[in-house]
Amino acid sequence: MAQPGRLVVIADGCDTEAASICDMIPPVGPIKPLPPTLESLMHPWLATRTTEFDSSGIRKVFDLASQMKDPINLSIGQPDFPVPDAVKQAAIRAIQADKNGYSVTQGITELQQRLQADIDQSLGHSDRRVVVTSGTSGALVLAMLALIDPGDEVICFDPFFVMYPTLSAMVGGKAVFVDTHPSFRIDPEKVAKAITPRTKLILLNSPCNPTGVVADASEIQALAELAVKHNIALLSDEIYRNFCYDGQLPSPTKWNDQTIVMDGFSKTYGVTGWRLGFIHGPTPIIDKITMMQQYTFVCAPHPFQWAALAALDTDMSSHIRQYHARRDRMVAGLNDAGYQVVHPDGAFYVFPQVPPEYESGTEFVTQAIAKGLLVIPGKIFSQRDSHFRISYAASNDTIERGIEVLKALRGAKT
Ligand code: PLP
Repeated sequence: MAQPGRLVVIADGCDTEAASICDMIPPVGPIKPLPPTLESLMHPWLATRTTEFDSSGIRKVFDLASQMKDPINLSIGQPDFPVPDAVKQAAIRAIQADKNGYSVTQGITELQQRLQADIDQSLGHSDRRVVVTSGTSGALVLAMLALIDPGDEVICFDPFFVMYPTLSAMVGGKAVFVDTHPSFRIDPEKVAKAITPRTKLILLNSPCNPTGVVADASEIQALAELAVKHNIALLSDEIYRNFCYDGQLPSPTKWNDQTIVMDGFSKTYGVTGWRLGFIHGPTPIIDKITMMQQYTFVCAPHPFQWAALAALDTDMSSHIRQYHARRDRMVAGLNDAGYQVVHPDGAFYVFPQVPPEYESGTEFVTQAIAKGLLVIPGKIFSQRDSHFRISYAASNDTIERGIEVLKALRGAKT
């Protein structure tokens, strides 16, 4: 439960005491948040790139959330199941066996070779290499550093994962948004129109955070072929690939062998704090990404790389089935309450439209929080403020309590 005076963080991966509202902003200690002052925004030491961040929209929600006792938390973007015991034991064994120093930059040979063999077997590309990274976030940072020159344009689909536009800007690039509202489907014609001589990269995320939508084979094929035609890099964030409930994930690698793929262990095995991911793609690009890792993260956390090896032999299908059932329950609850929902085929999110009686996602979330329900305003993930994100990575009881509040919020504006 959040305590008054404690900075309530917007993070996946924080403890249950700190109400978590959004992804990827790390937990901060027991300090009181200060509103930004003009001086703090303009401190002479700060680099211009720090102005690319804006967390003011979500700060309002934190402030509200910090007042909450026993919130119904449907905001967390990380699995609620425990790490499988075999995987925990492998991490403990590695630590006790003194595997605590640096590993080679590309990842311990056993893990790197295992990933390489799996990728070679499933894709059959002749020139594809893999490197183990510090989370999928680490892979994303390194890919951006390796690919984006100042002024380059990065095509992102709106709604987007929060890191994409910010990271694009941090490396001097510019996010160009291709709107997917209201269906959240990819329209290749819109993408084609967004391509300019400065376009360097298309960033794809399917299953998508925040919508849960899985792009179908025809959308992916068209996108993959468009990237080939224009000689643009295609970066496919497949971190939720194992959370596909209604069929297999179509990956652009099938139609474009130059696709760069990011993946990770965080979500599939519930190890968001271990910071383990990987990226694979054409060898010359992965070589440079590996070099970038040498000068930044150095390597992925070494003992957990041994645990990742054990994870790859661990069957997670019962958890995935459980999340499938939760998806069905959450969507049914939303439909019963009259929310407009695009069916989420994957990940563990739903992105309903804000009911017409509310002006915006921000207003809706403020009212939800007043009733003890934590969800995330859509504008964190979009240029629009018309939706809100629910994570059903929560217990059945929390989901039922959440559905009750969502029902009560219909037509009950206070
Ligand atoms: N990509 C997407 C779409 C995500 O939702 C997340 C985490 O929420 C990440 C990447 C980062 O994951 P990791 O924990 O592997 O850094």
